[in-house]
Amino acid sequence: MGKADFLSPKAISNRIKAKGLHKLRWYCQMCQKQCRDENGFKCHCVSESHQRQLLLASENPTKFMDYFSDELKSDFLELLRRLFGTKRVHNNIVYNEYISHREHIHMNSTQWETLTDFTKWLGREGFCKVDETPKGWYIQYIDRDPETIRRQEEQARKKKQELDDEERSARMIEEQVRKGREGKGTDETPLLVSEWEGFEAQREELVIWLADMDVRLTS
Ligand SMILES: [Zn+2]
Repeated sequence: MGKADFLSPKAISNRIKAKGLHKLRWYCQMCQKQCRDENGFKCHCVSESHQRQLLLASENPTKFMDYFSDELKSDFLELLRRLFGTKRVHNNIVYNEYISHREHIHMNSTQWETLTDFTKWLGREGFCKVDETPKGWYIQYIDRDPETIRRQEEQARKKKQELDDEERSARMIEEQVRKGREGKGTDETPLLVSEWEGFEAQREELVIWLADMDVRLTS
């Protein structure tokens, strides 16, 4: 199965079904407890443990919300990193993948109202690059792993070194061309001198020959 097939809505919904996530409606987010069915859920809701959690939550709702928000953020980012690396992807694809996990945090128990709110927040906080398109929001994981940063710096350093080397050899070639031009000028001078010397020698020969002729003609 190709990646496109793997991420198609049908494939995702099949995986959700396969994992029995229809049971999620009987999941108590606050206690993070999955109940078997409606009856089980009702029983859980009147249980002492649930009531205790409820009391704690009502006394300190922000603490619970912070906890769930933080969980959602870490799990979502981990999933994004694992599945897509730093590739740009539609937020819904990642979210569908995320909610296909049985133990996922429900958006309504977090500080965010919607997936869009959450996406914008990820962008604002610098966890992801986000951008809005007519088709919705896209996200891109920003890798802050020290090893990755080290590798990126190493690549940047190599790239700079290459550019420096290129610049240096370009300068050397330029220098050679310049020297070559000057050198050619000085090379040309002896050539001219030798030509001139040759010409001078010929002229002398001619003078001698003419003088000789003159002597013979006048004698
Ligand atoms: Zn509960």
